[in-house]
Amino acid sequence: MVSPSERVVVGIDNGATKNNATVLDAAGRFLVDRMYEIPSRVAEGPASAIDSMAETMELVLRDIGVERERVVAVGLDTPGPASADGVISVKGATNFAQPGWWGFDVRAGLEERIGLPVVYNNDGNAAALYAHHVLLGADAMTSSSVSAIVGTGLGGGVIESGQVVRGATGMAGELGHVRIATDGILADDQPMPICGCGNAGDVESIASLTGIVRNLLPYWLGRYPEHPLAALPLADAAKAVRGYGVDGDEMALALFDQQAAALGRLFTIAANYSDPAVYFVGGGVVEAASHFGEWFLERVRVHTQLREEQAAIARFVLVPDRDMAGARGSALAAAAALTR
Ligand SMILES: [Zn+2]
Repeated sequence: MVSPSERVVVGIDNGATKNNATVLDAAGRFLVDRMYEIPSRVAEGPASAIDSMAETMELVLRDIGVERERVVAVGLDTPGPASADGVISVKGATNFAQPGWWGFDVRAGLEERIGLPVVYNNDGNAAALYAHHVLLGADAMTSSSVSAIVGTGLGGGVIESGQVVRGATGMAGELGHVRIATDGILADDQPMPICGCGNAGDVESIASLTGIVRNLLPYWLGRYPEHPLAALPLADAAKAVRGYGVDGDEMALALFDQQAAALGRLFTIAANYSDPAVYFVGGGVVEAASHFGEWFLERVRVHTQLREEQAAIARFVLVPDRDMAGARGSALAAAAALTR
């Protein structure tokens, strides 16, 4: 038997192309300070992907010299949409296009494969949980936060008293598909942004890479036809526009200010709905360069309407260690499940 002080939990962050993993010991220390970028084989279907997750765990344990017998639980996160217990949406999902995934229980699949209890979160919730705990430390269990993470879509999560708010079906914290008032954000002649989910004017239709490709860049390049990005295919231009923002380009800053305004409207809803103490912003947009990340965060703050009492205590913070946050949040969730 392994003594309580020797017990560890593993966190596995599953992405469309790569897995990352970490190990958390009984004293609450992360034993891994580097990224593992192991092919996730998600496109090959569930069996290959589950094998890859199990191999990721073995590899990380071997790398840091921790015996497998010490592992008492595993935390897993994947992109959504999925149920609170890790059943991938029956309608399929962007990252799980292979039909074998539809309705597949990825949590149970990994649990069966490795013979250890597995605790599931979607990737946005896992990152939100990590951000919350690393910032708030000893106050984490008595505090609340909301996280918005700008990526291909708009992910994130809601944390209340140190725990992920999951909801009845696990669909809580799907912040991207909250519709917001777009007056004062869109220019007078700008078409209403449409999201992949079908909503007009939800947060993700503006504050995501997909929103840039579909909605923001086509409009802004129409206003700036001489812009160097107008010569590129739209998907390439969308990835490159952040670099222009970092360099202070006028068009790029106008575009990113619209994203910041959309997040501000979302956070204004959060302020009225659950009144969190901390508002986290994460994702590629704020990782490019620190001055740009700080500018973007400040624009989000300016666009968030708080009451005087709220403004006096609210904190706006960038999600730390974003590339490690999923694996670390998953490990924290697994550790918390053991103590319940
Ligand atoms: Zn949507």
